[in-house]
Amino acid sequence: MSDLEQLQMLIGGKPVGAISGKTFESENPYTGQSWAVIPDGDTDDIDAAVAAARAAFDGEWGAMTPFGRAACLRRLGDLITQNAERLARLEVNDSGKLYREMLGQLNALGGWYHYYAGLATAIEGTQPPVPNPNYLVYTRREPVGVVACITPWNSPLLLMSWKVAPALAAGCTVVVKPSEHAPGSTLGFAELIEQAGIPAGVVNVVTTARGEVGGHLAAHPGVDKVAFTGSTATGIKVGHAAMDNLNPVTLELGGKSPQVVFPDADLQAAANGLVAGVFAATGQTCMAGSRLIVHADVHDELVRLVAERASQIVLGDPFGEDTEMGPVANGPQYEKVLGYLSTAKEEGATVEYGGAAEDSLGGYFVRPTVLSVKPTDTVFREEVFGPVLAAVTFTDEDEAVKLANDTPYGLAGAVWTKDIHRGHRIAARIRAGTVWINAYRAVAPSVPFGGYKMSGLGRENGHAGLDPYLETKSVWVELTGGTRDPFTLG
Ligand code: NAD
Repeated sequence: MSDLEQLQMLIGGKPVGAISGKTFESENPYTGQSWAVIPDGDTDDIDAAVAAARAAFDGEWGAMTPFGRAACLRRLGDLITQNAERLARLEVNDSGKLYREMLGQLNALGGWYHYYAGLATAIEGTQPPVPNPNYLVYTRREPVGVVACITPWNSPLLLMSWKVAPALAAGCTVVVKPSEHAPGSTLGFAELIEQAGIPAGVVNVVTTARGEVGGHLAAHPGVDKVAFTGSTATGIKVGHAAMDNLNPVTLELGGKSPQVVFPDADLQAAANGLVAGVFAATGQTCMAGSRLIVHADVHDELVRLVAERASQIVLGDPFGEDTEMGPVANGPQYEKVLGYLSTAKEEGATVEYGGAAEDSLGGYFVRPTVLSVKPTDTVFREEVFGPVLAAVTFTDEDEAVKLANDTPYGLAGAVWTKDIHRGHRIAARIRAGTVWINAYRAVAPSVPFGGYKMSGLGRENGHAGLDPYLETKSVWVELTGGTRDPFTLG
C-alpha cells in the first residue's frame, strides 16, 4: 500500500474514483516528490457529474428555501474554518505556496460562505410599474441552473469559492473541475459537503490529468452557466464553448498590473507594497503588480529599496515559519519564468537584483527579481506569473497613465502618492477592475473583483458576484378577468 494520500472525487454525494479506474499522482513542487493519488476522470465522469447536478437541481435543492440554503452555506463556512489546517496543507503540498499564507487564506475563506449565506436571504424581485393598469407585474430571481466551475492552480480553494458560494446562494448546483497541477485541496473540500448537510449532487468535483477534459465540461449541453478562472488563452476557448450553448460565462483571466509611484509617495510603504504585489505567493497571482511605473526622480531610490528587500527574502520550505517565498508551483511554470528572464537579458534589461534560478535549494526556486527595462520589453508587456518586477520611468501624470494603460490587460493596479486629489484622479484613469491607493493585494467577499479588457468578463464577489448565477423572470398577472382585442400588443 502506497503511503501517498489517496483522494476521491465527489459525484452525486458519493466519494468515487474515475469510471476508468485511472489515477495520476500530484507532485509537491518543493520536494519534487509525488504526495497524493488523484482520480484521472474523463468525459464520462464529467457526464455523470453534470447528470447528478441536474438531478439535485430538479430535486431537494431546487425546492429548498433561501433560508435553508443559507444554513447550509454557514455550516460549510464553519467546516472550512474547522478544517483550515488540513486544507492549507493540501494546498501547500500541491502548489508550494507558503503554509502561513494558505492558512490565513483558509481561515478567511469561511467568510465567503457566510457573506453569500446573507445574500441568499436577500435575493428579491421587483414590482415594476406598467402603463396598462389592468396588469400587476412582478419579477422573480431564479437560479440559472447547473454551473461549471473551472479553476486554476494558484489559489484553488479561494478562486473556487468565489464561484461556488454565490452559485449555491442563488440556488444553483455545481460541477467543479480543479487544475491538474493542484487538484488535492478541492478534493479535501469535497469531503466536507455532506457534513454541511448539503444534499447529494449539489456540489460535484471531477479531477483529471488533462486540461482538455475541462473543455468537455465548458461545452456540455447539460450545463447552464460557466465560471472560469485561468489564463486568457484558455478563457477565450471556454468563452466560445459556452457561447455555442448560449450560456452566460464569467471569466477571470490574466493580468499585467501597473503600480504607479509618484515622487511624493512614502517610498518605504511603496517598496513594501511592491514586494507584496509581486513576490508574495512567488508572484503567481493574477493580480500581481508586476509593472512598476515610477517617477524618474525617485526611480533609483525606490528600485534600491525594493532590490534590498528582495535580497533579504527568505526562500525555502513552504512549511518553514521564517520562509517568505516558496518555489514556483510546477515544472512548466518554472521553465516559463526562466524563459522570460533570458528574454529580458537579451532585450537589454538591467538586473537590479536576482534574474536567475536559485539552484541551492532543489525544487523550482527562482530568485526574486527586479529589472529596469524599456516599456517595449517583453517582460514589461507579457504576464510572467512569477517573482519578476519590471520597472520603467515617467516624468508627468499623463505619461504615467498612458504607460499604465498600455497593455491588453486590465485586472488591477495601484497608485502610490500622498496627494489625495492625485490618488483618486489616477485611480479613475487606470482601466482596470481594481485599483488600490497606497495599498496592494487586498480582497474581500463583499468587494467586486474582475477584469477590464483581456483580463476577463464579469465580476466575482460582492452583490455583482451573485448576479451571474440568477435569471430574471417577469410575471404578468391580468387583474380584471376580462378579455381584450387579441390583435393588439399590451
Ligand atoms: P490555465 O488556463 O492553463 O488552466 C485553468 C483551468 O482550465 C485548469 O483547470 C485547466 O485544467 C483548465 N483547462 C485547460 N484547458 C482547457 C480547455 N480547453 N477547456 C476548459 N478548461 C481547460 O491556467 P493556469 O495555468 O491553471 O492558471 C494560471 C493563469 O490563471 C494565469 O494566467 C493567471 O493570471 C490566471 N489567473 C487569473 C485569476 C483571476 O482572478 N483573474 C486568478 C488566478 C489565476
